[in-house]
Amino acid sequence: MNMLYPQFEVIRNPSRCINCRACEKQCANEVHGYDENLKMMTCDESKCVNCHRCVAICPTRALKIVKTDHTFKENANWTEKAITEIYRQAETGGVLLSSMGNPEQHPIYWDKILINASQVTNPPIDPLREPMETRTFLGKKAGKIERDENGNLIDNLPPHIELNMPVMFSAMSYGSISYNAHAALAKAARELGICYNTGEGGLHEDFYEYGANTIVQVASGRFGVHTDYLNAGAAIEIKMGQGAKPGIGGHLPAVKVGSDISKTRMIPENTDAISPAPHHDIYSIEDLRQLVYSIKEATNYKKPVMVKIAAVHNVSAIASGVARSGADIICIDGYRGGTGAAPTRIRDSVGIPIELALAAVDQRLRDEGIRDKVSIVVGGSIRNSSDLMKAILLGADACYIATAALLALGCHLCRTCQTGKCNWGIATQREDLVKRLNPEIGAQRLVNLVTAWNHELEEMMGGMGINSIEALRGNRLMLRGIGLTQKELDILGIKHAGE
Ligand code: SF4
Ligand code: SF4
Ligand code: SF4
Repeated sequence: MNMLYPQFEVIRNPSRCINCRACEKQCANEVHGYDENLKMMTCDESKCVNCHRCVAICPTRALKIVKTDHTFKENANWTEKAITEIYRQAETGGVLLSSMGNPEQHPIYWDKILINASQVTNPPIDPLREPMETRTFLGKKAGKIERDENGNLIDNLPPHIELNMPVMFSAMSYGSISYNAHAALAKAARELGICYNTGEGGLHEDFYEYGANTIVQVASGRFGVHTDYLNAGAAIEIKMGQGAKPGIGGHLPAVKVGSDISKTRMIPENTDAISPAPHHDIYSIEDLRQLVYSIKEATNYKKPVMVKIAAVHNVSAIASGVARSGADIICIDGYRGGTGAAPTRIRDSVGIPIELALAAVDQRLRDEGIRDKVSIVVGGSIRNSSDLMKAILLGADACYIATAALLALGCHLCRTCQTGKCNWGIATQREDLVKRLNPEIGAQRLVNLVTAWNHELEEMMGGMGINSIEALRGNRLMLRGIGLTQKELDILGIKHAGE
Protein backbone atom coordinates (compact mmCIF):
# COMPACT_ATOMS: atom_id res chain seq x y z
CA MET A 1 0.00 0.00 0.00
CA ASN A 2 1.42 3.36 -0.98
CA MET A 3 0.38 6.06 1.46
CA LEU A 4 1.90 8.87 -0.62
CA TYR A 5 -0.44 10.58 -3.04
CA PRO A 6 1.42 12.14 -6.00
CA GLN A 7 2.53 15.69 -5.31
CA PHE A 8 1.82 16.92 -8.84
CA GLU A 9 -0.73 16.26 -11.53
CA VAL A 10 0.25 16.11 -15.19
CA ILE A 11 -2.56 17.70 -17.19
CA ARG A 12 -2.58 16.78 -20.87
CA ASN A 13 -4.99 18.62 -23.13
CA PRO A 14 -6.28 15.87 -25.47
CA SER A 15 -7.46 18.37 -28.06
CA ARG A 16 -3.86 19.60 -28.42
CA CYS A 17 -1.85 16.40 -27.96
CA ILE A 18 -0.67 14.94 -31.29
CA ASN A 19 0.86 11.80 -29.72
CA CYS A 20 4.34 12.80 -30.86
CA ARG A 21 5.82 11.13 -27.74
CA ALA A 22 8.44 13.84 -27.29
CA CYS A 23 7.48 14.14 -23.62
CA GLU A 24 8.06 10.40 -23.17
CA LYS A 25 11.58 10.66 -24.62
CA GLN A 26 12.43 13.76 -22.58
CA CYS A 27 11.34 12.61 -19.13
CA ALA A 28 14.14 10.73 -17.35
CA ASN A 29 11.69 9.99 -14.55
CA GLU A 30 9.58 7.85 -16.91
CA VAL A 31 6.33 9.64 -16.18
CA HIS A 32 4.96 9.59 -19.72
CA GLY A 33 4.14 6.46 -21.74
CA TYR A 34 2.15 5.44 -24.79
CA ASP A 35 -0.59 2.83 -24.84
CA GLU A 36 -0.40 1.08 -28.21
CA ASN A 37 -3.87 -0.43 -27.82
CA LEU A 38 -5.62 2.77 -26.88
CA LYS A 39 -3.37 4.81 -29.18
CA MET A 40 -2.97 7.47 -26.54
CA MET A 41 -0.45 8.88 -24.12
CA THR A 42 -0.53 7.71 -20.51
CA CYS A 43 1.27 8.90 -17.42
CA ASP A 44 2.45 7.83 -13.98
CA GLU A 45 2.46 11.17 -12.21
CA SER A 46 3.70 9.71 -8.93
CA LYS A 47 7.20 9.95 -10.46
CA CYS A 48 6.90 13.57 -11.58
CA VAL A 49 9.29 16.03 -9.88
CA ASN A 50 7.89 19.13 -11.63
CA CYS A 51 11.01 19.94 -13.64
CA HIS A 52 8.98 21.37 -16.59
CA ARG A 53 11.13 19.67 -19.22
CA CYS A 54 8.17 18.03 -20.95
CA VAL A 55 6.15 21.24 -20.71
CA ALA A 56 8.92 23.20 -22.42
CA ILE A 57 9.47 20.59 -25.12
CA CYS A 58 5.84 19.83 -26.03
CA PRO A 59 5.36 21.26 -29.55
CA THR A 60 1.64 22.00 -29.06
CA ARG A 61 1.68 23.30 -25.47
CA ALA A 62 -0.59 20.43 -24.52
CA LEU A 63 0.97 19.92 -21.07
CA LYS A 64 0.91 21.63 -17.74
CA ILE A 65 1.99 20.44 -14.30
CA VAL A 66 -0.11 21.53 -11.33
CA LYS A 67 0.24 20.96 -7.63
CA THR A 68 -2.33 18.39 -6.59
CA ASP A 69 -5.29 19.69 -4.63
CA HIS A 70 -5.63 16.31 -2.96
CA THR A 71 -5.48 17.28 0.69
CA PHE A 72 -5.18 16.06 4.24
CA LYS A 73 -7.60 17.25 6.89
CA GLU A 74 -6.48 20.77 7.79
CA ASN A 75 -4.02 20.92 10.66
CA ALA A 76 -1.78 23.91 11.33
CA ASN A 77 0.67 21.74 13.26
CA TRP A 78 0.71 18.49 11.28
CA THR A 79 1.08 19.99 7.84
CA GLU A 80 0.98 17.97 4.63
CA LYS A 81 4.77 18.21 4.48
CA ALA A 82 5.23 16.92 8.03
CA ILE A 83 2.88 13.99 7.43
CA THR A 84 4.32 12.91 4.07
CA GLU A 85 7.88 13.08 5.38
CA ILE A 86 6.92 10.69 8.17
CA TYR A 87 5.31 8.30 5.67
CA ARG A 88 8.46 8.44 3.57
CA GLN A 89 10.80 7.71 6.47
CA ALA A 90 8.52 4.99 7.85
CA GLU A 91 8.80 3.31 4.46
CA THR A 92 12.54 3.64 3.89
CA GLY A 93 14.12 4.00 7.34
CA GLY A 94 16.49 6.47 5.74
CA VAL A 95 17.63 10.06 6.07
CA LEU A 96 15.56 12.34 3.81
CA LEU A 97 17.77 13.66 1.03
CA SER A 98 17.22 16.81 -1.03
CA SER A 99 19.14 19.30 -3.07
CA MET A 100 19.41 23.01 -3.87
CA GLY A 101 18.82 25.56 -1.10
CA ASN A 102 16.60 25.83 1.95
CA PRO A 103 13.04 26.47 0.64
CA GLU A 104 11.44 27.16 4.05
CA GLN A 105 9.57 30.38 4.83
CA HIS A 106 12.22 32.07 6.94
CA PRO A 107 12.66 35.84 6.58
CA ILE A 108 14.58 36.97 3.50
CA TYR A 109 16.45 39.99 4.83
CA TRP A 110 17.43 41.22 1.37
CA ASP A 111 13.73 41.98 0.81
CA LYS A 112 13.59 44.05 4.01
CA ILE A 113 16.50 46.28 3.08
CA LEU A 114 16.17 49.29 0.76
CA ILE A 115 18.89 51.15 -1.17
CA ASN A 116 19.39 54.92 -1.20
CA ALA A 117 19.47 57.31 -4.21
CA SER A 118 20.83 60.83 -4.56
CA GLN A 119 18.56 63.87 -4.89
CA VAL A 120 19.39 67.56 -5.41
CA THR A 121 22.50 68.24 -3.32
CA ASN A 122 24.46 65.10 -4.17
CA PRO A 123 23.51 64.54 -7.80
CA PRO A 124 23.30 61.10 -9.37
CA ILE A 125 25.77 60.00 -12.05
CA ASP A 126 24.57 58.85 -15.45
CA PRO A 127 26.22 55.45 -16.06
CA LEU A 128 25.60 55.74 -19.82
CA ARG A 129 27.71 58.88 -20.04
CA GLU A 130 30.19 58.58 -17.16
CA PRO A 131 32.71 55.82 -16.49
CA MET A 132 31.70 53.44 -13.69
CA GLU A 133 34.24 51.15 -12.03
CA THR A 134 33.08 47.69 -11.01
CA ARG A 135 36.49 46.03 -11.20
CA THR A 136 37.17 44.16 -7.97
CA PHE A 137 40.38 42.92 -6.36
CA LEU A 138 40.21 40.14 -3.79
CA GLY A 139 42.98 39.49 -1.32
CA LYS A 140 44.86 41.25 1.46
CA LYS A 141 45.22 45.00 1.04
CA ALA A 142 48.69 46.52 1.25
CA GLY A 143 49.12 48.20 4.66
CA LYS A 144 51.20 51.11 3.37
CA ILE A 145 52.82 52.49 0.23
CA GLU A 146 56.56 51.74 0.08
CA ARG A 147 59.17 53.27 -2.23
CA ASP A 148 62.75 52.29 -3.01
CA GLU A 149 65.74 54.65 -2.61
CA ASN A 150 64.95 56.19 -6.05
CA GLY A 151 61.40 56.98 -5.03
CA ASN A 152 59.89 54.27 -7.22
CA LEU A 153 56.87 52.42 -5.93
CA ILE A 154 57.73 48.95 -4.57
CA ASP A 155 55.22 46.47 -5.92
CA ASN A 156 54.82 44.20 -2.90
CA LEU A 157 51.08 43.56 -3.19
CA PRO A 158 50.04 40.22 -1.74
CA PRO A 159 48.60 37.83 -4.37
CA HIS A 160 45.07 38.71 -5.37
CA ILE A 161 42.27 37.83 -7.78
CA GLU A 162 41.16 40.47 -10.27
CA LEU A 163 37.51 40.39 -11.35
CA ASN A 164 35.81 42.63 -13.92
CA MET A 165 32.74 42.69 -11.68
CA PRO A 166 32.11 41.62 -8.09
CA VAL A 167 30.58 38.24 -8.97
CA MET A 168 31.95 34.70 -9.18
CA PHE A 169 30.37 31.33 -9.87
CA SER A 170 30.34 29.39 -6.64
CA ALA A 171 31.73 25.90 -6.04
CA MET A 172 29.93 23.19 -7.99
CA SER A 173 31.87 20.00 -8.46
CA TYR A 174 32.26 18.03 -11.65
CA GLY A 175 30.20 15.08 -10.52
CA SER A 176 27.44 17.03 -8.85
CA ILE A 177 27.01 18.86 -12.16
CA SER A 178 27.73 17.63 -15.66
CA TYR A 179 30.76 18.14 -17.90
CA ASN A 180 28.74 20.46 -20.12
CA ALA A 181 27.56 22.55 -17.18
CA HIS A 182 31.17 22.89 -16.01
CA ALA A 183 32.28 23.80 -19.51
CA ALA A 184 29.59 26.50 -19.70
CA LEU A 185 30.68 27.99 -16.35
CA ALA A 186 34.37 27.94 -17.30
CA LYS A 187 33.78 29.54 -20.72
CA ALA A 188 31.49 32.21 -19.26
CA ALA A 189 33.94 33.02 -16.45
CA ARG A 190 36.72 33.52 -19.00
CA GLU A 191 34.59 35.75 -21.22
CA LEU A 192 33.34 37.83 -18.29
CA GLY A 193 36.76 38.15 -16.66
CA ILE A 194 35.57 36.55 -13.42
CA CYS A 195 36.13 33.12 -11.80
CA TYR A 196 34.27 29.85 -11.47
CA ASN A 197 35.01 27.25 -8.80
CA THR A 198 35.76 23.53 -9.19
CA GLY A 199 34.07 22.53 -5.94
CA GLU A 200 35.47 19.45 -4.30
CA GLY A 201 35.49 17.31 -7.43
CA GLY A 202 38.97 17.99 -8.78
CA LEU A 203 39.68 19.57 -12.14
CA HIS A 204 39.02 17.67 -15.37
CA GLU A 205 42.07 17.80 -17.64
CA ASP A 206 40.03 19.59 -20.34
CA PHE A 207 39.51 22.57 -18.03
CA TYR A 208 43.14 23.36 -17.19
CA GLU A 209 43.08 25.89 -20.04
CA TYR A 210 40.64 28.01 -17.99
CA GLY A 211 43.07 28.13 -15.04
CA ALA A 212 43.31 31.93 -14.85
CA ASN A 213 39.54 31.99 -14.25
CA THR A 214 39.38 28.96 -11.98
CA ILE A 215 39.28 28.65 -8.21
CA VAL A 216 40.37 25.17 -7.20
CA GLN A 217 38.88 23.81 -4.03
CA VAL A 218 40.44 21.67 -1.32
CA ALA A 219 37.76 20.00 0.79
CA SER A 220 37.93 17.43 3.57
CA GLY A 221 37.88 14.46 1.15
CA ARG A 222 40.84 15.96 -0.78
CA PHE A 223 39.36 14.46 -3.96
CA GLY A 224 41.51 15.17 -7.00
CA VAL A 225 44.01 17.32 -5.07
CA HIS A 226 47.62 17.25 -6.28
CA THR A 227 50.35 19.82 -6.93
CA ASP A 228 49.38 20.49 -10.57
CA TYR A 229 45.78 20.97 -9.48
CA LEU A 230 46.76 23.50 -6.80
CA ASN A 231 48.87 25.42 -9.26
CA ALA A 232 46.30 25.30 -12.04
CA GLY A 233 43.91 27.91 -10.63
CA ALA A 234 43.89 31.62 -9.87
CA ALA A 235 43.28 30.87 -6.19
CA ILE A 236 42.81 27.92 -3.87
CA GLU A 237 39.75 27.62 -1.66
CA ILE A 238 39.81 25.49 1.48
CA LYS A 239 36.25 24.40 2.15
CA MET A 240 35.59 24.12 5.87
CA GLY A 241 31.83 24.31 5.56
CA GLN A 242 28.92 24.81 3.21
CA GLY A 243 25.73 26.78 3.86
CA ALA A 244 23.36 24.03 2.75
CA LYS A 245 24.90 21.50 5.13
CA PRO A 246 27.01 23.06 7.87
CA GLY A 247 28.78 20.54 10.05
CA ILE A 248 28.71 17.63 7.62
CA GLY A 249 30.79 16.56 4.64
CA GLY A 250 29.91 16.42 0.96
CA HIS A 251 27.96 13.59 -0.63
CA LEU A 252 28.06 12.52 -4.25
CA PRO A 253 25.77 9.50 -4.75
CA ALA A 254 27.35 6.46 -6.44
CA VAL A 255 24.95 6.79 -9.38
CA LYS A 256 26.83 9.94 -10.40
CA VAL A 257 30.36 8.51 -10.09
CA GLY A 258 31.12 7.33 -13.64
CA SER A 259 34.58 6.61 -15.07
CA ASP A 260 35.44 10.21 -15.90
CA ILE A 261 34.37 11.44 -12.46
CA SER A 262 36.28 8.62 -10.76
CA LYS A 263 39.44 9.54 -12.70
CA THR A 264 39.12 13.27 -11.94
CA ARG A 265 38.38 12.70 -8.26
CA MET A 266 40.86 9.82 -7.92
CA ILE A 267 38.22 7.55 -6.34
CA PRO A 268 36.70 4.17 -7.36
CA GLU A 269 33.89 4.09 -9.89
CA ASN A 270 30.25 3.69 -8.80
CA THR A 271 30.93 4.30 -5.13
CA ASP A 272 29.42 7.02 -2.94
CA ALA A 273 31.92 9.89 -2.61
CA ILE A 274 31.39 11.01 0.97
CA SER A 275 33.87 13.54 2.28
CA PRO A 276 34.31 13.59 6.06
CA ALA A 277 32.66 16.24 8.23
CA PRO A 278 35.97 17.69 9.50
CA HIS A 279 39.32 17.95 7.79
CA HIS A 280 41.14 15.26 9.75
CA ASP A 281 44.17 17.51 10.13
CA ILE A 282 42.27 20.59 11.33
CA TYR A 283 41.01 20.93 14.89
CA SER A 284 42.05 24.52 15.61
CA ILE A 285 42.87 27.83 13.90
CA GLU A 286 46.56 26.87 14.25
CA ASP A 287 45.88 23.66 12.27
CA LEU A 288 44.01 25.69 9.64
CA ARG A 289 46.99 28.03 9.47
CA GLN A 290 49.23 25.04 8.76
CA LEU A 291 47.08 24.02 5.79
CA VAL A 292 46.86 27.62 4.52
CA TYR A 293 50.65 27.90 4.59
CA SER A 294 51.20 24.39 3.17
CA ILE A 295 49.11 25.47 0.19
CA LYS A 296 50.93 28.80 -0.10
CA GLU A 297 54.23 26.89 0.01
CA ALA A 298 53.02 24.42 -2.66
CA THR A 299 52.06 27.33 -4.91
CA ASN A 300 55.15 29.46 -4.30
CA TYR A 301 53.23 32.16 -2.41
CA LYS A 302 51.82 33.29 -5.76
CA LYS A 303 48.14 32.51 -5.22
CA PRO A 304 45.65 33.82 -2.69
CA VAL A 305 44.19 31.22 -0.35
CA MET A 306 40.49 31.38 0.41
CA VAL A 307 38.73 29.70 3.32
CA LYS A 308 35.04 28.93 2.97
CA ILE A 309 32.86 28.59 6.05
CA ALA A 310 29.15 28.14 6.57
CA ALA A 311 27.16 30.90 8.26
CA VAL A 312 26.55 29.51 11.74
CA HIS A 313 25.77 31.03 15.14
CA ASN A 314 29.25 32.24 16.10
CA VAL A 315 30.33 33.06 12.56
CA SER A 316 32.02 36.37 13.41
CA ALA A 317 34.37 34.76 15.94
CA ILE A 318 35.16 31.98 13.47
CA ALA A 319 35.82 34.50 10.70
CA SER A 320 38.12 36.45 12.98
CA GLY A 321 40.15 33.28 13.54
CA VAL A 322 40.18 32.54 9.80
CA ALA A 323 41.46 36.06 9.08
CA ARG A 324 44.30 35.40 11.53
CA SER A 325 45.10 32.02 9.97
CA GLY A 326 46.78 33.73 7.03
CA ALA A 327 43.89 33.25 4.61
CA ASP A 328 43.58 36.05 2.05
CA ILE A 329 39.85 35.72 1.42
CA ILE A 330 37.01 34.49 3.64
CA CYS A 331 33.98 33.04 1.90
CA ILE A 332 30.78 32.81 3.92
CA ASP A 333 27.95 30.62 2.70
CA GLY A 334 24.46 31.33 4.04
CA TYR A 335 21.84 28.75 4.95
CA ARG A 336 19.94 29.21 1.69
CA GLY A 337 22.97 28.13 -0.32
CA GLY A 338 22.46 25.34 -2.83
CA THR A 339 23.83 21.81 -2.93
CA GLY A 340 23.74 18.77 -5.16
CA ALA A 341 22.70 16.56 -2.25
CA ALA A 342 22.10 17.17 1.46
CA PRO A 343 20.04 15.69 4.27
CA THR A 344 16.76 17.66 4.13
CA ARG A 345 16.65 18.21 7.88
CA ILE A 346 20.10 19.80 7.91
CA ARG A 347 19.51 21.86 4.79
CA ASP A 348 16.32 23.30 6.25
CA SER A 349 17.22 23.75 9.94
CA VAL A 350 20.94 24.41 10.34
CA GLY A 351 22.80 27.69 9.85
CA ILE A 352 21.81 31.34 9.72
CA PRO A 353 20.90 33.88 7.00
CA ILE A 354 23.83 35.28 5.04
CA GLU A 355 22.66 38.89 5.51
CA LEU A 356 23.07 38.71 9.30
CA ALA A 357 26.28 36.67 9.09
CA LEU A 358 27.89 39.10 6.65
CA ALA A 359 27.02 42.18 8.70
CA ALA A 360 28.30 40.55 11.89
CA VAL A 361 31.57 39.39 10.31
CA ASP A 362 32.34 42.70 8.59
CA GLN A 363 31.69 44.59 11.84
CA ARG A 364 33.82 42.22 13.92
CA LEU A 365 36.78 42.43 11.55
CA ARG A 366 36.50 46.25 11.53
CA ASP A 367 36.29 46.37 15.33
CA GLU A 368 39.41 44.23 15.52
CA GLY A 369 41.24 46.36 12.96
CA ILE A 370 41.87 43.44 10.61
CA ARG A 371 39.26 44.05 7.90
CA ASP A 372 41.94 44.99 5.35
CA LYS A 373 43.82 41.75 6.00
CA VAL A 374 41.18 39.75 4.24
CA SER A 375 38.47 40.07 1.58
CA ILE A 376 34.95 38.81 2.20
CA VAL A 377 32.99 36.88 -0.42
CA VAL A 378 29.43 35.83 0.36
CA GLY A 379 26.98 33.43 -1.20
CA GLY A 380 23.82 31.61 -0.26
CA SER A 381 21.01 32.82 -2.46
CA ILE A 382 22.05 35.99 -4.21
CA ARG A 383 19.06 36.21 -6.54
CA ASN A 384 19.57 39.45 -8.45
CA SER A 385 21.70 42.57 -8.77
CA SER A 386 20.00 44.32 -5.86
CA ASP A 387 20.85 41.41 -3.50
CA LEU A 388 24.39 41.78 -4.82
CA MET A 389 24.38 45.54 -4.23
CA LYS A 390 22.99 45.15 -0.70
CA ALA A 391 25.65 42.55 0.10
CA ILE A 392 28.41 44.93 -1.00
CA LEU A 393 26.88 47.77 1.01
CA LEU A 394 26.76 45.46 4.03
CA GLY A 395 30.48 44.79 3.66
CA ALA A 396 31.10 42.08 1.04
CA ASP A 397 33.90 42.50 -1.50
CA ALA A 398 32.16 40.17 -3.95
CA CYS A 399 29.41 37.57 -4.15
CA TYR A 400 29.27 33.97 -5.20
CA ILE A 401 26.29 32.85 -7.27
CA ALA A 402 25.37 29.24 -8.00
CA THR A 403 21.61 28.65 -8.04
CA ALA A 404 21.13 31.79 -10.15
CA ALA A 405 23.80 30.48 -12.55
CA LEU A 406 22.11 27.08 -12.82
CA LEU A 407 18.76 28.78 -13.44
CA ALA A 408 20.42 30.65 -16.31
CA LEU A 409 21.48 27.25 -17.68
CA GLY A 410 17.88 26.01 -17.61
CA CYS A 411 17.46 24.58 -14.10
CA HIS A 412 13.82 24.64 -12.98
CA LEU A 413 14.56 24.14 -9.27
CA CYS A 414 12.84 20.77 -9.03
CA ARG A 415 15.27 20.01 -6.18
CA THR A 416 16.05 16.44 -7.18
CA CYS A 417 19.69 16.83 -8.28
CA GLN A 418 20.63 13.96 -5.94
CA THR A 419 18.85 11.43 -8.18
CA GLY A 420 21.21 12.07 -11.10
CA LYS A 421 18.24 12.32 -13.48
CA CYS A 422 18.32 16.06 -14.21
CA ASN A 423 16.22 16.46 -17.33
CA TRP A 424 18.00 19.73 -18.14
CA GLY A 425 21.46 18.12 -18.46
CA ILE A 426 22.88 20.00 -15.48
CA ALA A 427 22.99 17.82 -12.35
CA THR A 428 23.48 14.52 -14.12
CA GLN A 429 26.17 12.28 -15.55
CA ARG A 430 23.87 10.31 -17.88
CA GLU A 431 25.23 10.88 -21.37
CA ASP A 432 21.80 11.14 -23.01
CA LEU A 433 20.85 13.87 -20.53
CA VAL A 434 24.20 15.72 -20.43
CA LYS A 435 24.07 16.40 -24.18
CA ARG A 436 20.82 18.33 -23.72
CA LEU A 437 22.88 21.21 -22.36
CA ASN A 438 24.88 22.93 -25.07
CA PRO A 439 27.93 24.46 -23.33
CA GLU A 440 28.24 27.29 -25.86
CA ILE A 441 24.61 28.35 -25.47
CA GLY A 442 24.86 27.85 -21.72
CA ALA A 443 27.97 30.05 -21.53
CA GLN A 444 26.24 32.78 -23.53
CA ARG A 445 23.25 32.72 -21.18
CA LEU A 446 25.58 33.04 -18.18
CA VAL A 447 27.43 35.91 -19.83
CA ASN A 448 24.08 37.61 -20.52
CA LEU A 449 22.94 37.18 -16.93
CA VAL A 450 26.08 38.55 -15.29
CA THR A 451 26.40 41.36 -17.84
CA ALA A 452 22.80 42.39 -17.15
CA TRP A 453 23.47 42.39 -13.41
CA ASN A 454 26.56 44.51 -13.92
CA HIS A 455 24.55 47.07 -15.91
CA GLU A 456 21.99 47.19 -13.12
CA LEU A 457 24.75 47.52 -10.54
CA GLU A 458 26.12 50.51 -12.44
CA GLU A 459 22.66 52.08 -12.61
CA MET A 460 22.20 51.71 -8.85
CA MET A 461 25.70 53.08 -8.22
CA GLY A 462 24.96 56.04 -10.45
CA GLY A 463 21.69 56.60 -8.62
CA MET A 464 23.62 56.88 -5.37
CA GLY A 465 26.11 59.27 -6.94
CA ILE A 466 28.94 56.78 -6.53
CA ASN A 467 31.09 55.73 -9.49
CA SER A 468 33.35 53.12 -7.94
CA ILE A 469 32.55 49.82 -6.30
CA GLU A 470 35.34 50.51 -3.77
CA ALA A 471 33.31 53.42 -2.37
CA LEU A 472 30.29 51.19 -1.87
CA ARG A 473 31.88 48.48 0.23
CA GLY A 474 30.47 48.52 3.75
CA ASN A 475 28.73 51.85 3.10
CA ARG A 476 25.76 50.97 5.29
CA LEU A 477 24.49 54.54 5.35
CA MET A 478 23.17 53.77 1.88
CA LEU A 479 20.84 51.14 3.34
CA ARG A 480 17.61 51.35 5.33
CA GLY A 481 15.57 48.55 6.89
CA ILE A 482 11.84 48.09 6.63
CA GLY A 483 9.73 45.88 8.89
CA LEU A 484 12.70 44.80 11.01
CA THR A 485 13.06 44.70 14.79
CA GLN A 486 15.59 46.94 16.52
CA LYS A 487 17.73 43.86 17.23
CA GLU A 488 17.79 42.94 13.53
CA LEU A 489 18.64 46.52 12.56
CA ASP A 490 21.43 46.54 15.15
CA ILE A 491 22.97 43.35 13.78
CA LEU A 492 22.67 44.59 10.21
CA GLY A 493 24.12 47.92 11.34
CA ILE A 494 21.54 49.93 9.41
CA LYS A 495 18.86 52.50 10.26
CA HIS A 496 15.14 52.05 9.76
CA ALA A 497 13.53 53.63 6.68
CA GLY A 498 12.47 57.18 7.54
CA GLU A 499 15.47 57.77 9.81
S1 SF4 B 1 4.92 16.21 -26.26
FE1 SF4 B 1 2.90 17.17 -26.19
S2 SF4 B 1 1.99 16.65 -28.14
FE2 SF4 B 1 3.71 15.28 -27.89
S3 SF4 B 1 2.82 13.43 -26.91
FE3 SF4 B 1 3.54 14.76 -25.26
S4 SF4 B 1 1.75 15.98 -24.71
FE4 SF4 B 1 1.34 15.10 -26.70
S1 SF4 C 1 9.40 14.96 -14.19
FE1 SF4 C 1 9.64 16.75 -15.52
S2 SF4 C 1 9.65 15.93 -17.61
FE2 SF4 C 1 8.82 14.34 -16.26
S3 SF4 C 1 6.62 14.64 -16.30
FE3 SF4 C 1 7.37 15.79 -14.56
S4 SF4 C 1 7.69 17.84 -15.35
FE4 SF4 C 1 7.55 16.49 -17.12
S1 SF4 D 1 19.86 21.18 -11.58
FE1 SF4 D 1 18.37 19.82 -12.59
S2 SF4 D 1 17.81 18.32 -11.01
FE2 SF4 D 1 18.79 20.04 -9.96
S3 SF4 D 1 17.11 21.38 -9.35
FE3 SF4 D 1 17.84 22.11 -11.33
S4 SF4 D 1 16.53 21.09 -12.85
FE4 SF4 D 1 16.27 19.98 -10.91
